[in-house]
Order: sequence, then structure tokens, then C-alpha cells
Amino acid sequence: MTDERIEAMLAELSPAEKAGQLTQYFYFKLPGEADPALGVDAEQQPRAVEAALGRGRVGSLLFVTDPAETNRLQRLAIEGNPHGIPVLFGFDVIHGLRTIFPVPIAMAASWDPETIERGQAVAAREARAVGIHWTFAPMVDIARDPRWGRIIEGAGEDPFLGAAVAAAQVRGFQSGGIIAGPKHFAGYGASLGGRDYDEANISEYELWNTYLPPFRAAVEAGAGNIMTAYMDLNGVPASGSHWLLTKVLRDTWGFTGFVVSDANAVKSLETHGFAADPADAAARGVLAGVDLEMAVSEPAYDHLPEVPEAADAIDASVRRILAAKLRLGVLDEPYVDEDRAREILADPQHREVAREAARRSAVLLRNEGDVLPLDAAALGSIAVLGPLADSRRDTIGPWVFDFDLDETVTVLDGIRRAAGDGVRVEYAQGIPVTQRVFPSMFDMFGGNRPADPDGFDPALELASAVDLAAASDVAVVVLGEYQNMIGESASRSSLELPGAQLELLQAVAATGTPTVLLVMNGRPLDLRWAAGHVPAILDIWYPGSQGGNAVADLLFGAAAPGGKLPFTWPRTAGQIPMFYGHTRSHEPQNQYRRYWDEESTPLFPFGHGLTYSTFEYANLSVSAGSAGVDDEVTVSVDVTNTGGREAPEVVQLYLHQRHGRASRPVRELKGFTRVVLAPGETRRVTFTVGPQQRRYWHAAVRDWVLDATTFDVWAGGTSTAELTTTFEVR
Ligand code: BGC
Repeated sequence: MTDERIEAMLAELSPAEKAGQLTQYFYFKLPGEADPALGVDAEQQPRAVEAALGRGRVGSLLFVTDPAETNRLQRLAIEGNPHGIPVLFGFDVIHGLRTIFPVPIAMAASWDPETIERGQAVAAREARAVGIHWTFAPMVDIARDPRWGRIIEGAGEDPFLGAAVAAAQVRGFQSGGIIAGPKHFAGYGASLGGRDYDEANISEYELWNTYLPPFRAAVEAGAGNIMTAYMDLNGVPASGSHWLLTKVLRDTWGFTGFVVSDANAVKSLETHGFAADPADAAARGVLAGVDLEMAVSEPAYDHLPEVPEAADAIDASVRRILAAKLRLGVLDEPYVDEDRAREILADPQHREVAREAARRSAVLLRNEGDVLPLDAAALGSIAVLGPLADSRRDTIGPWVFDFDLDETVTVLDGIRRAAGDGVRVEYAQGIPVTQRVFPSMFDMFGGNRPADPDGFDPALELASAVDLAAASDVAVVVLGEYQNMIGESASRSSLELPGAQLELLQAVAATGTPTVLLVMNGRPLDLRWAAGHVPAILDIWYPGSQGGNAVADLLFGAAAPGGKLPFTWPRTAGQIPMFYGHTRSHEPQNQYRRYWDEESTPLFPFGHGLTYSTFEYANLSVSAGSAGVDDEVTVSVDVTNTGGREAPEVVQLYLHQRHGRASRPVRELKGFTRVVLAPGETRRVTFTVGPQQRRYWHAAVRDWVLDATTFDVWAGGTSTAELTTTFEVR
């Protein structure tokens, strides 16, 4: 029945209408909102798209979030012509629609797939209510270069964690009623120099072992869509790569959903110097496996009717788009209930889920002398300092478009609410973060306060912030980057705290007032000075609309932090790339210092994160000291809360293959689980280590291999865990 219905629709479509089904247009809500940098006329673009809708030349739209608008445009598509087929509405629902969650790298730092899944289910529920059918998320690109602004959109450096986070997000979105679109297939995180849109050159070994596993996990979790990447991968544009989009994705992994290009990426095949002209770009896009072209204007797929050799591929792509519409129920129920949408967007339970997610994603990097949690009853005054402490727009982070600043809780708001009547909470901006040197195209979605408004005297502001710190019992300093300094089109050449923020921090610490540093960021920043001088450092990321409440919960101990770093935190940009899963060619003790001007170690290792209690690990054991190459073994360890309060811990399992047909990383994450233990409580945690966890892609064999060898195992609360044992594989 399903197939018959699709075949009947397909048979009615003209070649131009088929091309239309394979075209997705940006639709800018209001004239004037389109960015001149995109090269379109903001007045004309929406009119042109509406005309195309009426002629049945549009299969999908992106960027519409108002339910009245989705209904209006849907009506144009359906009533405009005799074959009127409803459009799919896609959107970047990255970390929430109205209820804004912590940014994706923060969610990954929870190491908690359930929290991640629940969060994306909420986002999906809000999205579907306004008429959005599909999200361009999760971004599952492995990122090992924090200069790259888009590191904030992913799960960090590790393929195992990345795969778990990818699958959780896919399950969350799709259980909430929208299609998930993992992106950017594949290898975008390796773009040269961390520069957006630059080429990526990745060995086959790294591609299969590091960059592809999260995509495969997302496909196995049932993702209905995949988005291509902009850049050249090993010399071939990813958006024109038959090997990637058909051989790997469909033939090897059995993907049955539809593939969308990144924005204009089919048309750009000509810019790459790959396609000869737009018609050639269209042919090569659809034959490589791009079903739907995302376009701002003048799509290459307008030329599909001129490409007879692609007729079968075009039909196959149209079937996939229609199948998605049918499966989502869009063909039968194309409109949304606008009143119901308003109710769902306002659901207070969604805010609770976001608050819990923000509590779970913060990472306590340092807590010398147990400065945290603060004891509100013993404090008379708190100085809250730094421009990010009181900025709603920055609190929710980049990649949000439909937010409500009125309901956003800043760190200052949260501390004021939680501190209680007896505590004087005062705020001083201190210094601006400073404006970016170059504007970003994303500034149009909400910039920051001006860097130096009239009458702003930086020296005076700094002095009054320092005075306030000196006169208070504790100073909470919020530093980092404005939200538009990170994300797409926001790479950096350094990791320094922008502007005079370090100066502010140093001056505040010099007052002798106990100082807590809260870092608002999506990439590791240069915290070398802070890590040696500031007793408490809590990474709060961009924590979302409930961020301030969650941060206050953590500061005053209503909740204990339990996040762990999803990336290695370098000391300085000069160490990049730096990741824990590297191989080894010298005995470490013979390597001396690898930089004469800097340590060879990171500032904080992958997997690091403290809490308000302590944990001890013991009794690490393996079910069998020796196992067959295809056998599973189980690894168990006791973890005990040895501190004074209930607290979370992420138990991590790392493996290392001692010898074999290739050199393998010194450690690789192969299991993790989040536990919450009462004081004195011990939990025995067990992981399965089967062929799936031990296999690796061998570049010369060009396949997955399993070696008979010895494995080292470590278990603990960080990637530098010391408790170790071994087992043999025959
Ligand atoms: C980004 C994608 C995004 C798309 C639509 C592109 O520039 O690379 O990740 O989904 O725009 O907003």
C-alpha cells in the first residue's frame, strides 16, 4: 500500500516536478532577515520561493519556525497546483527550539545518553508542534582541533563517546516525532587549521577508526536522514562522493533514508572545480547519492530534467523523499494546530528537563580546598563579575533561533534567586569580552552588547569590579567567549581568553577573596594561569535557558557536578592537535619534553571532571584471562564513594592492544557508565568487551581486523586512570 501510493504519486509528476521534490529552499521569515553575504535579495527571495511552491517546484523548506507560517506555506504547496504535495519543513534544532538546552558539546560532557535522549525528545516535541518535521542534527563530526568553532556542535574527540552520543540524539529526536539528520558526512571536523569550509585529508585508517563510527552508530539507531559535508575529503567534494554517499552509506551500512546536501553544496561542486557547470553538478550530485539539494536560490537541481542519464537515480531519490513524507504522516496531516503549538512551547516540564541537563553537563575542573560548594548560610556577600554573568543571549549559546530571552535565566539571576535573603549579591561587568575582530554571518541572529558603549571607561569598570570583589566574601567570575565567537564561521587562531578577561581574573584573585571561575565556552580556552591560581573552576559551557538556575544549584550544592571533558584540554593552541588516543613511537621517558617552551601534557585530560565527593576504584577483574578472538569478556570494577555526600561519577573503561598487525592507540575508551552513589556506597560496574570493541580498520587489509594479542585494561574516572589489568586474546 505504501509503495503503491508512492508509485502513483511518482507517476503523476513531470520531470520538473520531480526536480522540485528534490529541492529544498531556505525561506527567510521576514524580508530583511536574509544575510547579504548569502548573495540573495531579502525582499525577493521569499516571493520567489512562494511562486516556486505554487508551481510544485519545492520539496522542502528550511528556516520556518512559526506555526502560522508553516501552515500558510504548506497551503501554498498543496493548493497551488494539481499534484500539490506537502513540503517537509527542516530546521537546525540543535540544542532546543524554544526551551534551550546546553550546547551539544556540553550535553556530551554529561556522558549521559539518557539525559541527551530526553533533551532531544523535548526539542523534537516543540519542533513538531510548530510544523518542523526534521532537524539538521546531530552534528557527529569528531573534532580534534578546538580552533574549529563547530567543535561546540559535536561530542568532541572520541569515536566511542561520539557514537554513543550520536545514537542517543537520534533516538531522542525521532521518538519526539521528527527525523534526525546526522551531519556532516564526512570528515568536516578535520578541516585544515580548524578553518571552516577548508579541505580535509584523512587517511583511510583514521576515517574508519575515528571519523566514521559516530555516523555508523547514528545510522544503526535509525536516522532517517544524513547531511553531506561542504569540504573536499581526500580530494573529492564530500557532496559529490559516490564512494561516501552510496558505497559506504547505503551499500555497506544499509542506510535507507534520504541524503540532503549542506547549503548550496551541490551547486558548489562547480566552485570546487569538480563539476563543469550547474547541470553537471546536478548530475554528479544525484548520481553520487544526494537526494535533496539544500539551496538559497537557483538550485543546481533545476537542471535535473536536462540529465537523462540520471532518470533512474532521480526516481529513486523522489521515492525516498515521498517515503519520508508518508512515514511522518505529512501527506495525511500536513497542518499543525497553532494553539496546541503554543501550549507545547510553554510546557514547564521542558524547562525542568533543560535544568537537569545543565546540571549534569557542567564539568568541575578544579576545586582546591573544597571552595565549592558555597555555604550560603555562612556567606554575607557574593560578588558576581564579568559580562557573561548577566547576558541572556550568551547564556543560551549559538545555533538557536527561536529562543525567548525573557525566560532565560543568567548566572546572576540564578545566584540571586538561590542565595537567599541573608546574602548580598552584587554584580559588576568588569570588562567587556571584546567584540570579534570580524563579524560573523550569524551575528544577524543576535549579537552582543557593544564592546565600548559611549561613556564606558574600561579602567574604571575594572577597578570597581575589583573593589567589589575585595569587599565580598566570595567572588564568582564568569569568563569565556561571547556566543558569536564560536560556532559556524567562528574559528579562532588562538585559545586565549579574549580581551582583558585574564587581567580581570588576576586582579580579582589578588584581592585574596576566595574566587570561583565559571567558564562559559564551547571550546577549551587557555586557562593556564587560572589552573595554577584560582581554586575553583567550573566549566558551565553555554548552559541554556535554565542555565543560571542549574549553575546556582551546583554552586550552592543542591546538586553535585558530574560532567567529564569530552575532549583533551590543551594548554595552548600551539599543542593542537592533542588527543589522548594517539599512538606511541618512543618510550615516554625517552621523549623528554616535546616542546622546549611548553609541557607536553594537556592542561586537563580527556574524561576529567571532579565532584563534591571522592571515588576510589578497586578489584578490577576480567571474566577470562584468555579468550578466543571472537569471544566476549567482561571487565568489572568496584567504585566506592569515599567522600561525605551523594555524588555522580562516570566510570570509564579504556583498552590498549599491545601488539598486532598495526600500532594501536595508547588508550581507547571502550565503555562508560554514569552512577550516583551515596557516601560509603560501593557499586560493581561491569563492561562487555567483545570483538566489536577490539576490532579496528586496517589500512592495508582494507577491512576490519581482530588480532590475537594482549590487551591492557584501565578503569577509573578519567583517561589517565591507573588501576589496570590485562587479558589475552588467542
Ligand atoms: C551548515 C549546516 C546547517 C545548514 C542550514 C550550513 O551552513 O553547515 O550545518 O544545517 O547551514 O542552516
